Amino acid sequence: QVKNAGRNALCFFDPQMLAAIQNRADLESDLRHALTAQQFELHYQLQTTDQGVPVGAEALVRWRHPQRGLVSPQQFIGLAEDTGLILPLGHWVMQTACAQLTAWQATPDKAALQLSVNVSARQFRQVDFVEQVRGILRDSGANPNLLKLELTESLVLDNVQDTIAKMKQLKATGVRFSMDDFGTGHSSLTYLTQLPLDQLKIDQSFIHNIGVHASDAVIVQTIIGMANTLGLEVIAEGVETEAQRDFLAAHGCHLCQGYLFAKPLPVVEFEAMLLLHEITV
Ligand code: C2E
Ligand code: MG
Ligand code: MG
Ligand code: MG
Repeated sequence: QVKNAGRNALCFFDPQMLAAIQNRADLESDLRHALTAQQFELHYQLQTTDQGVPVGAEALVRWRHPQRGLVSPQQFIGLAEDTGLILPLGHWVMQTACAQLTAWQATPDKAALQLSVNVSARQFRQVDFVEQVRGILRDSGANPNLLKLELTESLVLDNVQDTIAKMKQLKATGVRFSMDDFGTGHSSLTYLTQLPLDQLKIDQSFIHNIGVHASDAVIVQTIIGMANTLGLEVIAEGVETEAQRDFLAAHGCHLCQGYLFAKPLPVVEFEAMLLLHEITV
């Protein structure tokens, strides 16, 4: 669209572009009914030590569309943000994730698993966001210490004071925070020292290029160093190869999430995988 901006007249009648607009409109109207139709589900991706010992999971939302099949969040989170649907959807994600935590708490092998939940900017900026999370924790009975909220740099920097205030209130109840996709935004060391963070999550683009571009390997080492300096935990996302895992471990990043260990899975498969894990480890 942007590429063809100078040829509006031609663009307008471009059947491909019309199809794309129609597709977005269809998706949007379908999205409005998806929550009440119970078409969303959470998948869980394992987080482990570099030795493969399970420590937790990240909850990742999927949309089971009756015609399109499983739709990835990349295709609808932006749309949900634009339409405001992210508010009820985000609330549903938090509720479902906390209910899952509570269920795991009751089983000896899964009681210590932490659960990371992605929070969108619009969701976080709600005046009663803190109250909502507190309410969900209270109602579900989930242990707040096992809940980790993933924020992005752009969310944080959009309103640093509001972010710090909300983070502090939630931290007082025991909730933890991770900075997602770290390294892709513009957060300075100044902000990082002010934020009550617990974890930096290195963006997968850097992990992917560890063995490809020397500069990305340097960025990864720098982020690990920053985390150590600030006394934060550090985790790598998108770890796909043993070489990446070995590089990370050699440089002091001992927590991993990626296809090397497991893909995001529906809860039944996730739990089956954990069980298999215990037998083989
Ligand atoms: P994210 O939070 O950075 O999540 C990590 C993404 O990387 C996930 O994509 C995951 O499936 C993918 N991934 C993990 N390991 C690997 C790997 O080894 N290789 C590759 N190529 N990819 C890997 P997914 O599930 O498609 O989610 C995309 C994004 O959508 C997430 O990025 C997050 O920003 C957003 N998202 C997902 N669930 C939610 C949600 O419940 N709420 C909100 N607000 N956003 C969500
Ligand atoms: Mg995330
Ligand atoms: Mg991420
Ligand atoms: Mg990412």
